Amino acid sequence: MEVGVLALQGDFAEHIAVLKRLGVTGREIRLPEQLENINGLIIPGGESTTLSRLMSIYSMREPIEQMSRQGKAIWGTCAGMIMVAQEITEEDPVPLKLMDIGVLRNGFGRQVDSFEQDLQVIDLGPAPFHGVFIRAPVITRVGREVKVMATLPDGQPVAVRQGNLLATSFHPELTADNRLHQYFLDLIPQESSPSA
Ligand code: GLN
Repeated sequence: MEVGVLALQGDFAEHIAVLKRLGVTGREIRLPEQLENINGLIIPGGESTTLSRLMSIYSMREPIEQMSRQGKAIWGTCAGMIMVAQEITEEDPVPLKLMDIGVLRNGFGRQVDSFEQDLQVIDLGPAPFHGVFIRAPVITRVGREVKVMATLPDGQPVAVRQGNLLATSFHPELTADNRLHQYFLDLIPQESSPSA
């Protein structure tokens, strides 16, 4: 199986390394035509304003929106989560509006803009998942169809799923724990085998 990792900006190489540990090829995606035959796409962390601009310049918005409409699996981590959101508190960046969540960039504040927290993640079993938060976005609104998979101790959602869409405000690709990547792989629709 091949999974696309948007490689316009940010820590796409780390995601590709985790996929490799799971025996999956992560294909770097920089152009719309590279999304053909890809059933799963990871939008990595980085700088969402830059990511947003590059997505427009490289005409990546429409093909990613189309992937989402087709029920393909898309996972946004950190800046990637900002990009998949329905709405953002500020006017820039411009999100893809794929998932019914509202997001505030750098919402944990400048003083504590990076922290780590062990999380209980629904569907991943009892072992905690080590969450690495780097100038992370805050989820300010969760739509009806969105399932909260993990929260901070104060109840703040940090991992959410809506059908085949996944979003995490932390960076699973920076830990040795493969479970969220495996979870995402399991969301990817399999090609139906061609009928003979
Ligand atoms: N603060 C960044 C932004 O707003 C996201 C940080 C990250 O992806 N680690 O785009």
